[in-house]
Amino acid sequence: MENRLGQGAGQVLAPLKQMLPALEALYTDVHAHPELSMQEHRTAGLAAEHLRAAGYDVTAGVGGTGVVGVLRNGPGPTVMLRADMDALPVKEMTGLPYASTLDAVDREGRTVPVMHACGHDMHVAWLAGAASLLAQGRAAWSGTLAAVFQPGEETAEGARAMLDDGLYKHFPKPDVILGQHVMVASAGEVGGRTGTITSAADSLQIRLFGRGAHGSMPQASIDPVVMAAATVMRLQTIVARELSPNEAAVVTVGSLQAGTKENVIPDEALIKLNVRSYDPKVRQRVLDAIARIANAEAAASGAPRPPEITTLDSYPMGVNDDSAGERVGNSFRDYFPAARVHRTGPTSASEDFGSFGQAWQVPAVFWFVGGTDPDTYAAASASGEINKIPSNHSPYFAPVIHPTLETGVETLVVAALAWLGKGTAAAPA
Ligand code: ZN
Ligand code: ZN
Repeated sequence: MENRLGQGAGQVLAPLKQMLPALEALYTDVHAHPELSMQEHRTAGLAAEHLRAAGYDVTAGVGGTGVVGVLRNGPGPTVMLRADMDALPVKEMTGLPYASTLDAVDREGRTVPVMHACGHDMHVAWLAGAASLLAQGRAAWSGTLAAVFQPGEETAEGARAMLDDGLYKHFPKPDVILGQHVMVASAGEVGGRTGTITSAADSLQIRLFGRGAHGSMPQASIDPVVMAAATVMRLQTIVARELSPNEAAVVTVGSLQAGTKENVIPDEALIKLNVRSYDPKVRQRVLDAIARIANAEAAASGAPRPPEITTLDSYPMGVNDDSAGERVGNSFRDYFPAARVHRTGPTSASEDFGSFGQAWQVPAVFWFVGGTDPDTYAAASASGEINKIPSNHSPYFAPVIHPTLETGVETLVVAALAWLGKGTAAAPA
């Protein structure tokens, strides 16, 4: 038995099967031609072309390579659907027939391999498919649809760049912002929750200053290597000793650089670290503790000057609006068989998707779509080896195209119609 939402979604999604070969071609093309963050020219061109062909009013070059397509279809709410487009400096090892063999030049001028190791190519294909279907099926809904293809998610700059470029001045203010990510879970299944969905992430660089000297004359030095080592060890106590067992955070030192030669005590040491947190108060305490420890270790060493602490990037915590999250969850449970819709915990991954809702002060909902072959996932689950499935950012990350592709198109259409669908538009928020 289908309700009115089900009928609307069924009507809009009817041509999906016929559209799949074209969407698959778009997906494998984008996969084979990945582009680094803020360099997504080709991908943005494909997205813009696709939206124009579907009848959208298209603006390209928003915040660099961002693309916005707007479809006005009568009175009603405005829904913004967002996909990110960037790839990563990873050498693809999947062996897929459409694997990337490309290199690119990064911001520092280095030539690096490029791969869609986070699945943003799938996100592009999902949004392209949903945008086309909603345009074709416009008789089934009323309102305004904005399809946003965002650059630079992996560097936490794309959403900000689009907002700074006037996204919220030049385009209609949405009533809700919807986004999704492919991840390791059974393909065809969807997971989400209300409340916190993605962690806040902060990357910092700590530059420690010492005094260089000959390795045989430590008394002439203030050794930044020892200072850095003590700092790294002491940083471990933040999570272990300063947070309660009920609070969660991650402090990972991912890079530690000092010196060039065994008999030269260097002048400086550089620490790069990453923090994940799920609570603004915990986040602030962790960041304060890092600054306190870095300064105190430098002082303990007698450093000539205090360390320089710089923020490299910062992702806001992703929080799904309670009421909008419920509405999305209900629409999924109406449309999909119950076994395909799951309530998940928050993930320690981070996203700049949250920036849009924060800037506009409107509800946002983000969810996950499985991309792992269901049999592979079931076998790994049974043997307790889910962590062995190559996950996002792995050189072996390879979502199966079906049914991942169709599921992500369905979720976007179904969720958008929870606001735009006739008979649902007037439903209480
Ligand atoms: Zn990623
Ligand atoms: Zn991603």
